[in-house]
Amino acid sequence: MPRRKTLRKIVAPPKFQGYKPFGINGDSNGVVELLYEEYEAIKLADYDLLNHDEAAKLMGVSRPTFARIYESARRKVAKALTEAKEIITVYGNVELDGIWFLCTKCNAKFTKPSSVENTNCPVCKSSLTEMINQ
Ligand SMILES: [Zn+2]
Repeated sequence: MPRRKTLRKIVAPPKFQGYKPFGINGDSNGVVELLYEEYEAIKLADYDLLNHDEAAKLMGVSRPTFARIYESARRKVAKALTEAKEIITVYGNVELDGIWFLCTKCNAKFTKPSSVENTNCPVCKSSLTEMINQ
């Protein structure tokens, strides 16, 4: 039986469907499929500059799982850049949750399982959080 994967939480899907290399001649060199959770991992680690523990918490996965997603994402982006391949984003294995909270102290956005009452920020533990609509 295939193992059921845990859904990874992402704050928002990528704002693009893909990237195309500029200035190459002739036919496409092929495409690299970047999963939404891989995009999110790069965003959290390299754009929001969170450490892996923080990023893993936001995505609702363990740190090793986050590290695997992040590694896969970086390899795909590096391959696309080096081999001048197109990047397309595909849905992957994610959960887009309807109810999000914003930490007004550190600006982290997060969701929580409905079984958890506590709405403290998973990153900085602050209780200064508010519900936001995506
Ligand atoms: Zn916070």
